Amino acid sequence: MPELPEVETIRQDLRQKILNTKIVQVKVLREKAVRSSTFSLPKNLTGKMFSEVERVGKLLMLKVGERYLLIHLKMTGQLIYIKHNKIIAGGHSFPALNTQLPDKHTQIIITFKDGGILYFNDMRRFGYARLVTAAEKEKIAATYGIEPLTSSFTYQKFSEVLNQKKTILKALLLNQAYFAGIGNIYADEICHEARVLPNRRANTLTEAETKKFYNATKKILTKAVRYRGTTFNNYLDGEGKKGNFVSFLKVYNRDGLKCKTCKKSLIHKKTLAGRGTHYCPVCQR
Ligand SMILES: [Zn+2]
Repeated sequence: MPELPEVETIRQDLRQKILNTKIVQVKVLREKAVRSSTFSLPKNLTGKMFSEVERVGKLLMLKVGERYLLIHLKMTGQLIYIKHNKIIAGGHSFPALNTQLPDKHTQIIITFKDGGILYFNDMRRFGYARLVTAAEKEKIAATYGIEPLTSSFTYQKFSEVLNQKKTILKALLLNQAYFAGIGNIYADEICHEARVLPNRRANTLTEAETKKFYNATKKILTKAVRYRGTTFNNYLDGEGKKGNFVSFLKVYNRDGLKCKTCKKSLIHKKTLAGRGTHYCPVCQR
């Protein structure tokens, strides 16, 4: 599932491509992808322009007039922008990205006057697009917790949340109502960076551990955004943007391999909060 760094990468890329360009056609190939939309996409987007691409957690919010097109990629959603055979794609990994689009996974096609086309693809079909009012958008955004890469993510707020919760760290990090945008990959990497076990109860962390945990959260997510996330594909737009956080992963998907930090233990994996969780029993306490 695309997490904060991957969705932020898409946001930054899309901003450079689709803003202030007239939308000339919108096709919804699968009605269920827009079932919760307040307004019809073809009727209300055609002839308009996106003026900003915002994000809260893993949710993209494209401003169009006074309304917002909300796009959530969920498990396997992908946004693929193509113009003059140059591709920008983000979201779920692209082991089998078919450049002949649309394909059987295409849900929505948005065509721009400048020749650019934005495809919303989704293999597992959990993602959605909704066109809503500004008030609805605000209401939805308010259900998200603190954004880790903004000024509202202070040590004080972070430690307040941790001190009040008996839940295990893995579950706390995954809960979008506390901290927005963190999913399975970065939850595991943050716990490792902070040297705490993901099954520790949040309120048992010492102040020193809480500080380390706070700094680890900022460090991991900032670095992942800089390297354009972990699931970003190889299809770049020819502007030389490259990079991948995969090579920096220390625990995620490394079960059975030697810990890169202590070089003593193997990385273990067990199910926590319903998700496969990776950690080093030597480095993390
Ligand atoms: Zn280790």
